[in-house]
Amino acid sequence: MPLQTAERALLDERRRLTRDEALAVARLPLDELPSLVALAHKVRLAWCGPEVELESLINAKSGACPEDCAFCSQSVRYQSGVDVYSFLDIDEIVAAAHATRAAGATQFCIVVAVRGPEERLLRRVIDAVDAVQRETGLEVACSLGLLTPAQADRLAAAGVRRYNHNLEACRALFPTICTTHSYEDRVNTARLAKDAGMELCCGGILGMGETLEQRVDFAFELAELEPCEVPVNLLDPRPGTPLDGQPTLAPREALQAIALFRLILPDTWLRLAGGRERVLGELQAMGLLAGANALIVGNYLTTTGRAPEEDHALLEALGMPVADGPGEGRFIVDSRGAQALPARRSIPVTAD
Ligand code: SF4
Repeated sequence: MPLQTAERALLDERRRLTRDEALAVARLPLDELPSLVALAHKVRLAWCGPEVELESLINAKSGACPEDCAFCSQSVRYQSGVDVYSFLDIDEIVAAAHATRAAGATQFCIVVAVRGPEERLLRRVIDAVDAVQRETGLEVACSLGLLTPAQADRLAAAGVRRYNHNLEACRALFPTICTTHSYEDRVNTARLAKDAGMELCCGGILGMGETLEQRVDFAFELAELEPCEVPVNLLDPRPGTPLDGQPTLAPREALQAIALFRLILPDTWLRLAGGRERVLGELQAMGLLAGANALIVGNYLTTTGRAPEEDHALLEALGMPVADGPGEGRFIVDSRGAQALPARRSIPVTAD
């Protein structure tokens, strides 16, 4: 019954689920997972279309972050053995962007491990954004931590299309994950990015000890911010961090979470990010059939991903075209629900 209600709401009435409706679906036994996955896939096709967006990241400044996020090997507080280096040369960043293009991705995200960017770093990032756009034509996203309004405006003016700032966890769990900044700090930066005119990429990490209800709450808290993209990381506990030793999600539980996120966030790019290889294992393909429609290809910030060719082969096998860009005005959703999707082009799934 909860699945039929959700299907009617999302596909017939073209409206979003209420929290009670989503919770009813979440509480179904995992034996019903195939039906939940099938519905999430239908919702993804109906609200977003068949395309999959590919993005690569560069960890442009690694480690030595003063914050204490419990999952993060880049915090200076933990003995994680992660590489520590200051902001890379622009040539190295542009070379990584060329590799991103060669891997068939259209988004390139410059990430730095900081609480927020100080002036010198911000200037260097803006120079790098300009160089990557000029030399590769890729859409550039940034993830630089907490921003001031003026910093957000400068990044938007520099042509940063999308700003990543994850909430990481739901409001109730966040204080157990991080004490050096608050959940509200993160929400504020997410709002600033949007107010400045950038698209918002805002997600988090599943499997950090949240309950099923908190997972549902997290998806609704993200939905309130109306993100264009929601990256879903599946905790891959890092040695030396406080979450080292935390059991990973079971694959079926991870698939259930991905499908629930799709039902609660029907119109976003739902991106499978860090941890997908370790947690989903043999069920990689199922992640894309459970509502996800975007991938990070190549390596993550501090862990290695699989070869981009493997993801292209997977998409080809699934018959899912690669989006040729983030899609101008792709999701036009108002109080009446999703509007007709503008025509979009696709590119072949093989990397050039
Ligand atoms: S998640 Fe970001 S802010 Fe938190 S410790 Fe890691 S790099 Fe720093």
